Amino acid sequence: MLHTISFPTGKVDYYLNSSCSQLFQIAPTAHNIIITDKNINQFYGDLFSIYRVIIIKPGEDSKNWETINSLASKLAALEVHKTTTIIGIGGGVISDIVGFLASVYMRGVSFAFVPTSLLGMVDAAIGGKNGINVDVHKNMIGTIRQPKFILYDTSFLKTLPDEEWSNGFAEIIKYGCIGEPKILADLETNNINTFRSKPEKMNELIAICIQQKNNIVVSDEQESGVRKVLNFGHTTGHAFETLYKLPHGQAVSLGMLVALIASEKHTNLSTTVRMQIIQTLQHYGLPVKLRFDIDKVVQTLRLDKKRNNDAIDFVLLEALGKPIVKSLTFTEIREALQIFADAIKH
Ligand code: ADP
Ligand code: ZN
Repeated sequence: MLHTISFPTGKVDYYLNSSCSQLFQIAPTAHNIIITDKNINQFYGDLFSIYRVIIIKPGEDSKNWETINSLASKLAALEVHKTTTIIGIGGGVISDIVGFLASVYMRGVSFAFVPTSLLGMVDAAIGGKNGINVDVHKNMIGTIRQPKFILYDTSFLKTLPDEEWSNGFAEIIKYGCIGEPKILADLETNNINTFRSKPEKMNELIAICIQQKNNIVVSDEQESGVRKVLNFGHTTGHAFETLYKLPHGQAVSLGMLVALIASEKHTNLSTTVRMQIIQTLQHYGLPVKLRFDIDKVVQTLRLDKKRNNDAIDFVLLEALGKPIVKSLTFTEIREALQIFADAIKH
């Protein structure tokens, strides 16, 4: 099934409910290059061995200049030029690296994604934001540029480890909080195993997430306004992720709870919403408590890209499905963090 979505910076072809074997028709082997990680190559290398393939080390630690440098040398050695499409097959780390590399290599060559992780399918591959980390700063260097196409083959999910399923569900729960409450209802009546065993149900949920993210990104690709709501749970989430080396989904799970606590103070959100979300997060194997050092978290937030003098644009909820962006001072954020820290005692 092909959908084309037009963003200000370019058109993206979405091949939904598709199969990796279709890649050969969409992107002929001769000019194109695949970048993947070692895990994906071990499981699925045979599917695309007909292409020229570059393999990188799996994991967030690969999102750095060293990787970009080494990949750029390899592309040059392979005589990659303007007519090549670089196809990233993998999770969010691969889409970040490939999107960024292709955006700057020769001032931009085209690229495409075949997301293989749930997080990649519902979030990382969509929206055109690509980037690498610098020191402790997540996605500090990056670009906004759209891939030529994204091909969805959910049979990749068969080999996805349980923890990675949970990570993907953190973003899906985020979509439920900021947009489609029907996502939350669907999540409550199912669980990881039911989604694992019913690919058509998983495809349906993925399609809703894609649509929701694209609706937001289409109207504000450069994140000057409404796109900010996609950062729900990510401000303190990124700080937890960096400081405590947590997987992204786990960090976002905790970050969403801090945002809900802050909402209770600043938008009068009912505490019952937080209780409901805690249940859903636990139902999908995500953490809801953390022992952490408030000073260190606040210090990390001071280095956030979204900082504006003594405050940060923070995404709060007025109600489920009703996000608003509000500038919170570091003192206000510290208050919410304190309430969250105290939760460990209960
Ligand atoms: P993200 O969670 O952002 O997608 P990664 O790209 O690091 O992050 O992917 C998470 C981990 O899952 C990596 O170790 C990656 O190699 C592995 N992985 C991704 N897709 C699959 C898959 N379909 N089967 C098995 N492992 C996978
Ligand atoms: Zn995220």
